[in-house]
Parts: sequence; structure tokens; C-alpha cells
Amino acid sequence: MQRGEPVEAGSGARRKKCDERALQHSLAYWLDSTCKACAGTGRAQAGTCAACSGNGEAPIDCAGGFVRERVKDMVSELHNIAASQARLANRRLRSR
Ligand SMILES: [Zn+2]
Repeated sequence: MQRGEPVEAGSGARRKKCDERALQHSLAYWLDSTCKACAGTGRAQAGTCAACSGNGEAPIDCAGGFVRERVKDMVSELHNIAASQARLANRRLRSR
């Protein structure tokens, strides 16, 4: 494939739009991943919440398997960043 072909430009724009969608879903999910059906308790009247299988976390709800996988990766990365920053903050507070 040569540079500047319309197909390449189109797929680049599509990829950018996909990434933006994945990023928006990731941030929204990371900020509030609580299962809405059981408010994060994992319990329902009949026992275990069917929507989250009892773990209290909402399923990642977005169209397209590729975007869903990107969202899972980004959410995982956001959790890792938050955890490493928390460890850094704890270390600094302990050293005072
Ligand atoms: Zn639930």
C-alpha cells in the first residue's frame, strides 16, 4: 500500500474515531463502574444480581468487540496508573 491512498486515510480517521469512542467509554467506566441494577451490592431480590453476576461491577457496554477490548485495556491501564499514584502518595506520606 502506498502512502496517501484514500483507503489508508479513511482507515486512519476511522481508527481515530474508534480510539476517541473507546477513550470516552473508558473514562466513564473507570469513574463509575458500579452495576446500576444492584447499585454495586452484587445482590438482587432473588439472590445474586444477574446483570453483574454478583461482582458489583457493570458489564462494559459498548457496541463492537474491538472497541470493547480497547475499553477493557484502557480501564485496566487507568486502574494501574491510579494504583501506582496511590502507592507513591503513601510512600511520600510515610517518609514525613
Ligand atoms: Zn449487579
